Amino acid sequence: MKTIYFDNNATTKVAEEVFEEMKPLFCELYGNPSSMHTFGGQISRKIRQARERVAGLLGCEPSEIIFTSCGTESDNAAIKGTLAAVPNKRKIITTRVEHPAVLTVCRELGNYGYTVVELGVDKRGRLDLAELEEAIDDNTALVTIMYANNETGVVFPIDKVAELAAGRGVVFHTDAVQAIGKIPLNLAKSSIDLLSLSGHKLHAPKGVGVLYVRKGTRISPFMLGGHQEAGRRAGTENVPGIVGLGKACELAAENLEKENSKVKYLRDKLEGAMLEKCPDSRLNGDKDNRLPNTSNISFEYIEGEAILLMLDKYGICASSGSACTSGSLEPSHVLRAMGVPFTAAHGSIRFSLSRYSTEAEVDYTVEKMPGIVNRLRELSPFVAK
Ligand code: PLP
Repeated sequence: MKTIYFDNNATTKVAEEVFEEMKPLFCELYGNPSSMHTFGGQISRKIRQARERVAGLLGCEPSEIIFTSCGTESDNAAIKGTLAAVPNKRKIITTRVEHPAVLTVCRELGNYGYTVVELGVDKRGRLDLAELEEAIDDNTALVTIMYANNETGVVFPIDKVAELAAGRGVVFHTDAVQAIGKIPLNLAKSSIDLLSLSGHKLHAPKGVGVLYVRKGTRISPFMLGGHQEAGRRAGTENVPGIVGLGKACELAAENLEKENSKVKYLRDKLEGAMLEKCPDSRLNGDKDNRLPNTSNISFEYIEGEAILLMLDKYGICASSGSACTSGSLEPSHVLRAMGVPFTAAHGSIRFSLSRYSTEAEVDYTVEKMPGIVNRLRELSPFVAK
């Protein structure tokens, strides 16, 4: 059975072009980029090129890119590194809908005496900028707010948030793990100080990420040891991963607009048909300000996990909530923050497409879904029969 992969917010396929660029780095060009010899120099040039390509996509200087092992590491480093650099300030502002890579860190810091403000969202998942403005005070060390939500795809007005923080002299970090490669960003025109991204969300391999640090931003080194990554993140580099990420960023920069209009067309077709053909279904999240690839739909009175299992029988991969929290029967913290009723939050499914998604896959899924929903509703104790 062919796999239909609509779970691209969990992870993506490595692009063939990316894999091709990575291959020589394993058995041919395997030197240590820190070595003095010519062989090592060849590898460090590959890293330099990758840094330039990432910077090209983000609109920043190559020297502002620090390679890490994943989005989670970048988020942890941004938060803890900033607090270590401004020890006299003890307040962090974030939102209730962040990924656990941010939210868990902030909550843990709350146990160590930091004041943590978690801003709420409205029922469409939108942020209230006035609430943010009110929360910032002289004790605030950091504002950390995601660019795009992994579960609903809702995009926050991150440039406005950055301006607000900058106006008050507060460092601003954004978890852009889901946004980069899906929507454009130009850091040269933005006041964002710190930004996290992750390779495996944009058709690069797992095990590589980036923390962007705007020149002049105070942040403590987060891995001590050798001099790699300008002494901020020591450790011999994941060269194949870094090279792969560089190529993935180059591809994203070249094709972003064209590919995303195709992805958006397919997502809208899938979503529109689901909402039309499945009674008692509803869209979660701000329809107008969303990633082009993501659709989060609640099918009332049935369990998301049951839907996933039935989709799986047809080879269709989707997700109920984020990959990190599936396995738990708790409804998603994001949907709860949006005030989605319990019966709808439990039956929520996230479809996330990519440039490799096809119209035939969308049509097949749309054909199967109403039958799945009807069958589960017949079994549901919540539906009057
Ligand atoms: N932030 C967001 C918004 C995510 O969606 C994810 C992964 O799903 C992460 C951070 C963590 O990234 P990584 O898997 O690279 O650690």
